[in-house]
This record gives sequence, C-alpha cells and structure tokens, in this order.
Amino acid sequence: MLITDRRTEMNELKHDGWTVEDEDAILDAIGKWVDGEVRPIAREHDQADTYPHELVEQMKELGLFGAIISPDYGGLGLPASTYAKIVMKVASAWMAPSGIFNSHLIMASAIERTGTEQQKSDWLPKMATGELRGGIALTEPNAGTDLQAIRTRAEKTNEGYRLNGTKTWITNSLNGNCLMILAKTNTEATPRHKGMSAFLTKKGQGYEVSKKLSKLGYRSIDSCELLIDDKLVPHNTLLGGTEGRGLQQVLGGLELGRINVAARGAGIGEGALMLATRYAQERETFGKPIAQHQAIQLKLGEMASKVAASKLLIEDAAKKYDSGQRCDMEAGMAKYFATETGVFCSQEAMRIFGGYSYSTEYEIERFYRDAMLMCIGEGTNEMQRIIVAKQLIERNPI
Ligand SMILES: Cc1cc2nc3c(=O)[nH]c(=O)nc-3n(C[C@H](O)[C@H](O)[C@H](O)COP(=O)(O)OP(=O)(O)OC[C@H]3O[C@@H](n4cnc5c(N)ncnc54)[C@H](O)[C@@H]3O)c2cc1C
Repeated sequence: MLITDRRTEMNELKHDGWTVEDEDAILDAIGKWVDGEVRPIAREHDQADTYPHELVEQMKELGLFGAIISPDYGGLGLPASTYAKIVMKVASAWMAPSGIFNSHLIMASAIERTGTEQQKSDWLPKMATGELRGGIALTEPNAGTDLQAIRTRAEKTNEGYRLNGTKTWITNSLNGNCLMILAKTNTEATPRHKGMSAFLTKKGQGYEVSKKLSKLGYRSIDSCELLIDDKLVPHNTLLGGTEGRGLQQVLGGLELGRINVAARGAGIGEGALMLATRYAQERETFGKPIAQHQAIQLKLGEMASKVAASKLLIEDAAKKYDSGQRCDMEAGMAKYFATETGVFCSQEAMRIFGGYSYSTEYEIERFYRDAMLMCIGEGTNEMQRIIVAKQLIERNPI
C-alpha cells in the first residue's frame, strides 16, 4: 500500500470519537510503515549520523505532524492513548525518528492549549501538515532541570521583543524551521517564574543554529546549540499574548511530553526484547539454543514483564490525560518506569547477544545507546520520583 493511501485512510477515520477499530486501523498502518520504511534504513542513518529526510515526507503523508492537533486546525485529533501506541511502535524499531514529531507536537500542543486565537490559526494548520516543523527551546548551558535559572532575555521595545541568549540540546532546530523559545521578560520577578515568557519564532527570525552536537545515541536527529543574538521578533510572537506565563505554558505540556517519552522507553524495551527473543532461539551453546538455558529465560521473563507493566502505566496516564484529569503523578510513574525498562531491556539484550552485541553489524547496540537519553529528557528520572512522591503525600495527607 502506498503511503498516500494510508494518509487517506487515516483521514477518512478522522472524526470526533475514535473507536477501538479506528485505533487498530491506525496502528496497522503505522506498523506497516515502520516495518517497510523505518526499520530498513535505521542502521545506516544512525551510523552515518545522517538525517532521515525521506521519513519526514512519509510522516507528512501519514499525518503524524498533526497527530494530536485538533481537526479544527487540520490535525488528526488523536487521543494521547492512541498517540502513545504510535510512538511505541516507531521506537520499537528506531527511537530517533519519533523525536521529529514528538518535540514538534509539544510545541503545537502548547499553542493549542495557551495560544491566542490568531496564533492558533496562524501556526497550527501549517504545523499539522508539517510545512512548519518545530520543537521547544528551554535548556541552556547553565540550566536544564532548574529552568527558572535561564538567562535568555526578551526585552520589550516599541518595535517588538529583543531576544538575546543561548540554548543547547535543541531537537529539530537544524532541520526544522520554528521553535518555541523560553525567555525572561522580567529578571527581577519574584517568584522567578512570573518573569518568564514563551515566544513562537521561526529560524533566522528568532534564532540561529550555531553548532550541531555530536552524541552517543539518538543520532541522525539534530540536537543543536542556538545563538540568539539581538533578534527582534514581533509582539504577536509572545505565546498567549500575556507576559509571565511561559513556565506554566511549558510545564503544562510536560504531562503529555512525559507520556510520549515513556512510550519511547517502552518501545525501546519492546524492540530490544523482540531482538533478544529471536536471537536466543537462533544461537546455540552446549548443544541447544540459548533460549533453553534458564539463565536466559530469567532475563526474557523479567524483560517481558517490565515491558507489559510499562504499557499499563502508560495507558493509565494517557487515559487520565485524555479525560482531562490531573495526571502528573501517573505520567511521572510511567515516564520513570518505562524509560528505566528501556535501559534494563537493552542492557539485558546486550548480554543475551554476547560478543555480537558489540558489533555494529547488529541492531541491538543502537537500542543500548538510545535508551539512556529517555531517562534524562522531559524531566530527569530523579525529578520524576520526586514529583510522584510529592503527589503521593499531597493526595494522602494525615
Ligand atoms: C539528546 C538531547 C536532546 C534534548 N532535546 C531538548 C530539546 O529539544 N529542548 C530542550 O529544551 N532541552 C532538550 N534537552 C535537554 C534536556 O531536557 C536536559 O538535559 C534535561 O532537562 C536535564 O538538564 P541538565 O542536562 O541541565 O541536567 P541538570 O539539571 O544539571 O541535572 C544534573 C543531575 O542533577 C539532578 N538534579 C538536578 N536538580 C535536582 C533536584 N532538585 N533534585 C534532585 N536531583 C536533581 C538531575 O536529575 C541530574 O541527575 C535535550 C537533551 C539531550 C541530551
């Protein structure tokens, strides 16, 4: 089936209420695309650290850039629970390309939740088609977890806002064309977050890419340093039109972001498990497949249980998110557990592959290199456990 047929099929399914059958049809289309187009090119792109431009065109056809954008703005309007399953499928073959639409959709969801009507109609239809492809620029060389310590400034003038600063590790900054930039509009504000605002900017207008970073894993996808050198952006680029809401606008999207990253972790875990399950039946030692040794069965059993538990945690968090309930605790649990599962399964799979795990001729070393990032991005796993504990205490006061 051609990709365009799949896009047409997915569009035909687009309506307000998504059914189990719709979800099955979408996941089937994504599964065919992953097996037919993503898996075969993963190793070559990863090793050469080259950007998979061909996948971007296919993602546009599939509608992935608008997956969770409302149909009012040309998106598919998928629930988070279906979206998480799509992300998991992609990551089970190659985690990196999921970043091309994940970071983009975090920006889109911030616009849809908190933008002005004008910003929504200006940005979202173009983001849904992939004409505008973006991400979020929060982290700076001196501040990641502690975002309130950022130094990027946005100074209001009659002509617009003058932006100055540097950002680092920004996904989609080189191959995308727009970013949501977090900056300080008031450096004296107390509490500090009241002086923070978010800006919707295009490449060249609001930032320049100064350096592509070389990475252990998550290769092929652009993670770059940005230079924001006296960039004048119009007043209407201020997200929501009111200063001082930037941190809330960004943090409000993190629940969905965490569900996404959890899905990427579970996908890595499942992909590693599948590779190991196959290899364990092929490789023989002492006259039988290693899958028949109990030591290997213990590993496979633990990996499979953790992947299954991760999926349930993700489903629980996504369903709460879809029903509009607060889900920071559930998203935190899912993100923590599923991403640690990704690391665990990729490590155990490395052991099962023995010496061949170290060969770049095999896929498993990529899962091992990609897995650790999921424990760091979208709020580190240290912070997730702290969020879970705080919520636990708040929900269970004595
Ligand atoms: C490949 C890649 C892609 C990325 N993409 C993006 C992107 O698109 N946009 C973006 O804005 N950022 C991006 N990031 C940045 C990422 O979000 C940050 O690296 C992450 O938030 C952690 O920040 P940090 O690196 O400054 O670590 P730090 O904040 O310096 O933390 C260092 C350690 O201290 C711990 N720690 C910090 N504070 C506390 C505390 N209060 N209590 C307990 N432990 C604490 C952390 O858990 C961690 O273990 C990306 C990073 C990478 C590596």
